[in-house]
Amino acid sequence: MKKIPMLDLKREYEYMKDDIDSTIRQCLDHQQWIFGPEIKQLEDALSAHLGVAHCVGTSSGTEALVLSLRALAIKLRGQEYFDMNDEIITTPLTFTATGDAILRSGATPVFIDIDPVTYNIDPFKVREYLSQNAPRVIGIVPVHLYGRACHMDEIMDMARQYNLFVVEDVAQAFGGKWKGRNLGSMGTTGAFSFFPSKNLGGFGDGGMTSTDDDEIAEIVRMLIKHGGRDKYNVDHIGYNARLDTLQAAIILTKFKYIDDFNGRRRNIAEHYTKGLENIAGLSIPVSTSLSSVHHVYNQYTIRVLDGKRNALQDHLKAKNISTMVYYPVPLHQMKIFQGKDRKGNPPCMNAEKAVREVLSLPVEPLQDEEDTQYVVDCIREYFSNAHS
Ligand SMILES: *Cc1c(COP(=O)(O)O)cnc(C)c1O
Repeated sequence: MKKIPMLDLKREYEYMKDDIDSTIRQCLDHQQWIFGPEIKQLEDALSAHLGVAHCVGTSSGTEALVLSLRALAIKLRGQEYFDMNDEIITTPLTFTATGDAILRSGATPVFIDIDPVTYNIDPFKVREYLSQNAPRVIGIVPVHLYGRACHMDEIMDMARQYNLFVVEDVAQAFGGKWKGRNLGSMGTTGAFSFFPSKNLGGFGDGGMTSTDDDEIAEIVRMLIKHGGRDKYNVDHIGYNARLDTLQAAIILTKFKYIDDFNGRRRNIAEHYTKGLENIAGLSIPVSTSLSSVHHVYNQYTIRVLDGKRNALQDHLKAKNISTMVYYPVPLHQMKIFQGKDRKGNPPCMNAEKAVREVLSLPVEPLQDEEDTQYVVDCIREYFSNAHS
């Protein structure tokens, strides 16, 4: 029987083996493991690609978020952390790290419900919240979930109107665009992840902060190395949160393949979308071909109605098809945020419904058409049996 994994890193490595091996060999030769030459090469390549003034390599996407927020507290407030009275708006349907970074910056997260069609934060609900609570809110952390852009026009418009910073969580969306503009280049900063399962993934942890703001870039550069320009006499409460030279070298090499790989993801998504149309009880991601969104499908996520999600997942598992639920628990219901989010956080019914219905299918860039069709056939088989 076929076996369709969510991710096949061995196959990806084989695909680019000579390139990767030679880049690793170069690192072995120069032995500059900390702030080696590949760090600056990667930062320059990615800032040119994104069209931003600065990219700073970080030890993970999580740290890229924390560093952005800490740098903003230092720049805007002249203090190391925000206060509990400072509210930062984000989505409840995201990885823990997004909300956790807000707590680690000293601020209070406010979770605003998602748009059930895009799964991203609903800008109209953000506006509604701001119209009543604006003075307490200092910023927004929109997450481009599954590789799909948030409504950046609305978000940036509110940011201007209410004088808010915007930290884009681009962990799942390297290469994604909003109206032709690269994600991670519109907000005050962008936070990227190079975790192996992301669209641009390394061989371990890594991340990056992007920004046009010289002062923020400078502060992030201090914070990643203990908090100062001079590490023996530091200015701020810092971290050891640099990107490794070896990871930078690998990511720089894989960056050559990103358009190819994102294109493959989009082709697989198109195949799914054609194959899974018009099934009662199943909804597919809304088409983006005519819209403002260049979706890069870190996940292809379907919605299974009538409480059948887990049964479909079991059915696919029996067919050797891996699937995942992103995410089973929305942040406003997670243990860590109890009593730490905004008191009387607005209701998040759409997110609560989504976590019971979403299912992400394999979009491994190198999976072939036959594999994708096999997934389609197995899903169709499930629904025809379920309704017969
Ligand atoms: C992966 C991810 C992160 C964290 O990135 P790491 O590199 O794993 O620390 C943050 N936000 C979102 C939405 C993610 O998917």
